[in-house]
Amino acid sequence: MSQSPKIQHLTDLQKLVSLCKRRGFVFQSSEIYGGINACWDYGPLGVELKQNVKKAWWNAMTRRPDIEGLDAAILMHPLVWKASGHIDGFTDPLVDCKKCKSRFRGDQIPEGTKGCPNCGGELTEPRNFNLMFKTFMGPLEEEASIVYLRPETAQGIYVNFQNVQVTSRRKIPFGIAQIGKAFRNEITPGNFIFRTREFEQMEMQFFVKPGTDDQWMEKWKAWRMEWYLKYGFRKDNLRFHQHGEGELAHYAKAAFDIQYQFPIGWQELEGIHNRGGFDLGRHQEFSKKNLEYFEEASKEKYIPFVIETSAGCDRSLLASLCDAYREEGEADDLRTVLGFHPALAPVKVAFLPLSKKEELSGPTTKLQEEFIDEMHTQYDEASSIGKRYRRQDEIGTPLCVTFDFDSLNDKKVTVRHRDTMAQDRVDMTQLKEYVRNKLKNF
Ligand code: ATP
Repeated sequence: MSQSPKIQHLTDLQKLVSLCKRRGFVFQSSEIYGGINACWDYGPLGVELKQNVKKAWWNAMTRRPDIEGLDAAILMHPLVWKASGHIDGFTDPLVDCKKCKSRFRGDQIPEGTKGCPNCGGELTEPRNFNLMFKTFMGPLEEEASIVYLRPETAQGIYVNFQNVQVTSRRKIPFGIAQIGKAFRNEITPGNFIFRTREFEQMEMQFFVKPGTDDQWMEKWKAWRMEWYLKYGFRKDNLRFHQHGEGELAHYAKAAFDIQYQFPIGWQELEGIHNRGGFDLGRHQEFSKKNLEYFEEASKEKYIPFVIETSAGCDRSLLASLCDAYREEGEADDLRTVLGFHPALAPVKVAFLPLSKKEELSGPTTKLQEEFIDEMHTQYDEASSIGKRYRRQDEIGTPLCVTFDFDSLNDKKVTVRHRDTMAQDRVDMTQLKEYVRNKLKNF
């Protein structure tokens, strides 16, 4: 019996950054021009992974009988941001070091620190800096044509609350889910795709009757934690963090973060907030449209309360990479594996002919063609089979199918498993069923 190999999880984010670049998950934006700070592009594998993260979230939300989907515009009426409080209050305290010119978010400087955390130099007084990106609508660059790139997707949901409720004939409680880009002119972006200025959010706003909000908050906390566990995140790396008095946003009645233990420490993955009646109340006030809901059964009218689950798509993706990363074995026999849940894995099956010879490559491609309608696959014939397995391990492909010379006669192929490295000989007529089963019951 072989001993189980020594396993090392990710402790240094830089290792992941270089794997992501080497294998085509994430590239620096505008790299040939020297890059642009804190902007990233998703490469061929990254975009597959991102689609899979979004699909997992979208299905978990919109397949529920009590949630509808939405895709609202990024540019919105400027009054939306007045009503939401973003124009007046969406600020971070900006602090500069007079000596080394480093820039900090005042609330992130450890308490009791007198001078610059870098050089000890004198710091400026904090200035409130609004995080919204401004632009102009139409040809004139004047005050009246200022619009904002949305800093969150949630407002698109609130302003469409009535449209969705009426057209889908919804009764409260129900929710609206949306995935989309958001923009924040962050003072201190960084840590790879953890904090960027352009990112994607996956937000769901659940509208409930006042008085039932605490119960729904508890339910959503549990459901959202289960979602991460379902997709294979290690339990030890997840926890709740409750916002204390000082941390609570102006709109929030209660707030919990789901935090993930990144190599940079415990950080927020997703916020779950009880926003009370703040949002619809404010939009009713500023738009002067009645946004009350009429409850048939009790003949009551009320402004619904909102339980929000607000997750970062890029941040979930980063966490999925950190969580999946492992190095197995010793220096001379080390393999790097991304142990993704199959639903997240960018490539589900790799098809590998044992040699490049046409008599093997032809039938291997034919076999691959049978799968392309159903899942993302890859074909690779370059270098030794061992090296190709390792390459697939490093991008997290759960299964490799190898077509060898025996396959020509016995019509069987070898299926090699990423995690156990076990190999099964499978009849080609049974292959599809076998693969489906393995991916489902991982
Ligand atoms: P922070 O206080 O760290 O700036 P926040 O509490 O304002 O963040 P939310 O407004 O609750 O964040 O945003 C919801 C989710 O959107 C976050 O949990 C995170 O996953 C994601 N998110 C927010 N800002 C960024 C960003 N700059 N880059 C990437 N993801 C982000």
